Amino acid sequence: SQLSLSILNDVPVSDTVQRYLSTDLKMCIGGQFFAASSGETIDVFEPSSGELLARIPAADKHDIDKAVTAAQAGFKVWSSMLPYERQQIILKFADLIECHADDFAMLESLDNGKSVEIARHVDVESTIKFFRYMAGWATKIEGTTQTVSVPGLHSTYTKKVPIGVVGAIVPWNFPLSMAAWKIAPALATGCSIILKPAENTSLTALLLAEIGIEAGLPTGVLNVVTGLGNVAGSALTSHSGINKIAFTGSTPVGKMIGKAAMENVTRVSLELGGKSPVIVFNDADIEKAAQGAASAIFFNHGQVCVAGSRLYVQSGIYEQFIQRVSEIANDMTLTHGMDSKIDMGPLISRVQQERVQDFIKTGIEEGARLLAGGCDWQGAGYFVKPTVFADTHHEMTIVREEIFGPVLVAQSFDTLEEVIELANDTPFGLAASIWSDNIKLVHQMIDSLEVGIVWVNTHHLVDASMPFGGVKQSGFGREQGKEQLDLFLETKTVWINYND
Ligand code: NAD
Repeated sequence: SQLSLSILNDVPVSDTVQRYLSTDLKMCIGGQFFAASSGETIDVFEPSSGELLARIPAADKHDIDKAVTAAQAGFKVWSSMLPYERQQIILKFADLIECHADDFAMLESLDNGKSVEIARHVDVESTIKFFRYMAGWATKIEGTTQTVSVPGLHSTYTKKVPIGVVGAIVPWNFPLSMAAWKIAPALATGCSIILKPAENTSLTALLLAEIGIEAGLPTGVLNVVTGLGNVAGSALTSHSGINKIAFTGSTPVGKMIGKAAMENVTRVSLELGGKSPVIVFNDADIEKAAQGAASAIFFNHGQVCVAGSRLYVQSGIYEQFIQRVSEIANDMTLTHGMDSKIDMGPLISRVQQERVQDFIKTGIEEGARLLAGGCDWQGAGYFVKPTVFADTHHEMTIVREEIFGPVLVAQSFDTLEEVIELANDTPFGLAASIWSDNIKLVHQMIDSLEVGIVWVNTHHLVDASMPFGGVKQSGFGREQGKEQLDLFLETKTVWINYND
């Protein structure tokens, strides 16, 4: 049956969006839409009110088996099509996402709690661009010719061939764009894909599956199977019919997936957690850097793998700087995603709200100075106030662990050597931002930081052409850019003997 939500009382809702506010959603396997074979479902809640938003199928091993069979058949057809034909379908896919941009934005906002405007202009816009960017590569996949030193006449070269069936698992923070980061390169390289979205945010992935069929994807090339991580997700990652696993999510789950993948020697790429430092030197423009530091942590309510969650400020400007960041935090308006006054929405779920609030309690107990926010949100919805802790140190839990919420921990430093040591003192290595105009110092920092991404006088910028990913326990493999194609391709080495 159809559902109605209180936050949509005065908001026009398209037929497509209305169709997805339903207790009877189906998942896409082999071009058709099914309930779970067990009949089990999962309730999905709108995070600003806790109201029932939708009910999705809870897939299990049987559904995964069915999806793998469909994807293997899809792979045969898709990989034998001309690259140019695949490119045309991916471009059509992008055009159709653009036609449905407002539907995608509203579903993403309702499912995740983020602002509908941000969903439209960041998540959906970047998804369209990414599909178009990857479509370009479909016709430009090349091997190499080699000169070898083996005696006799040989022709030697390499071919790049699609890896096969991709199993992709994504989290709930950017459901549409994380799905796009897996689907578009898989399609461009000639692979088929089974995507398992996060159980709390599957709606835009299901709409993508519907639109992919309309764009002309052959049957079984794109399958979207909804379900719980430890049921559907683990059935997918341990299936011997999967040739490559592309995972984005937390480091503990990434480690389990890596182990499961090795049972079948399945290729795997992991985009995992982070605890990224924001490093501000005395010469920085205080207002610009404070705005930058606030957005580094509070964008998407702190639920970003590259969130700037650790702030290091040089001692000359430390007190002034943390006061300004705290003012920005205190001025933020917390409301639902349809409200144009929104600065920050709710977290994804009650579980996540309680988890983040527990971290805040621990920070207070461990003696950090609370400058903004706290864990005393009253009222409906899974909100957590934007929170700033000062005078933290590296023995504190809130400094060591990924909180994945709007909680910033700040401390001061004096020297370059000191801040390099602090910044690298973490098992994670995803991203960092440096705020300074001192070119020598900036270059020294770029070389010394153990991270996959460095931003200078900015944070959070991403682009389809720029590789994205981490070092250390933040994972391996790079998404976006030309480098991502290699995750979906195998190299075949060819020797042709001309000797009699
Ligand atoms: P999560 O690891 O709990 O879940 C991610 C996905 O994995 C979900 O689809 C979930 O259903 C599935 N999953 C859970 N257990 C599984 C299992 N045993 N087997 C297979 N699949 C399983 O993470 P989350 O809480 O949804 O997302 C937040 C995490 O994702 C954070 O740690 C964040 O840093 C990380 N993240 C990383 C990047 C990146 O690019 N590095 C991007 C976004 C988020």
